[in-house]
Amino acid sequence: MTKQILFILLLPLTTLTQTDSRHLTVGLYNIGLGTLTGGIGSMTHKSENQSHWQAFKKGALHGAAGATVSYAGKHMVRNNFTNYRRDRLWSAKLMHAIGSSMTHNASINQGLFDSYFLTIGMNRLEFQFKDRVKINYKIMPGASMGFLVLWHRHGPPDLKYSLQLLTPVFTSDRKWNNKPAYELHNSIFVVERNNHTNYIHHELIHTFQHIDFLPLNNYTHPIKKMQKSKLQRWANQWIYLDLNSILLNQAFYKAENIGKQRHSDNFLEYEAIYFSNRIF
Ligand SMILES: [Zn+2]
Repeated sequence: MTKQILFILLLPLTTLTQTDSRHLTVGLYNIGLGTLTGGIGSMTHKSENQSHWQAFKKGALHGAAGATVSYAGKHMVRNNFTNYRRDRLWSAKLMHAIGSSMTHNASINQGLFDSYFLTIGMNRLEFQFKDRVKINYKIMPGASMGFLVLWHRHGPPDLKYSLQLLTPVFTSDRKWNNKPAYELHNSIFVVERNNHTNYIHHELIHTFQHIDFLPLNNYTHPIKKMQKSKLQRWANQWIYLDLNSILLNQAFYKAENIGKQRHSDNFLEYEAIYFSNRIF
C-alpha cells in the first residue's frame, strides 16, 4: 500500500521532465523537504507505543502528501503568471496552506487533517478539528517586524493587492534601493508602474518558502511542554515564534549565496524564478 501511495504522489513529477528538467528539480526539492521534515518531526514526537522507524515512516509519507498539495498551490501561481492574472492568487495561497498544514500535522505526529493554519502577514490563524472545532489567533514577531519595516519605508499597505494575495503588499511609484520588488518576512513590496507588478508572483513564492520551513518550529514542542510558568503559558497562547522565517532569511538564503555567481544560482531564487520567470 505504501508503494502505491508513493507512486501516486510522485506521478506529477514524471510529467514534463523531458522538456523541462527544472520541473523535476523543483518537484523533488518540494516533496523531499516535506518528506524529511514530516519524517524527522514525527519521530521526535513519537508516541510511547510507536517505534522510531514506524513514526518516521508515517510522518515521511504524510509529509510527502502535504508537500504535493503545497506544490500544486505553487503551480497555481505559475498558471496565474502565464495567464497574466492576479485575481486567483488568493486561492493558490489557500491551497499551499492546506498542503503545509498537512506537512505540519505530519511533523508533530498527529492526523493528516487534525489542524489547519493560515498565515496572513504577521497573523496566524489556527483551526483545530480534533475532538471539537477550535480557532486560535497568534501573532508572529518576525513577520511583524517585516510588516512594520515595509510600512515605515513605503507607507500603508495596498488593500487591493493585499486582498488578492492574502498577503500584505506595499506599493510605490519608485524603486527602493534599486529594486522594483522584494519580499521581507511575509510582506511584499512592488513598484506599481512599467509592468513591475508582474514581480508579485515571484515574491509570493518567496512568502510560501517561509511556510515550507514551518515544521522546523515544531522540533521545539517537547521543550515547550517542559516550561510551565505563567508567562510561558501566556506567550504560547498568543505568540507564534516564527523562527522558520529568521532561519530562512538569515541562514539558509545567505548560505545559498556563498560562492554563487548569478542571482538565480541561489536555490530559493531558482525556485521562485521557476514559478514566475522573473529574476528579483
Ligand atoms: Zn527573488
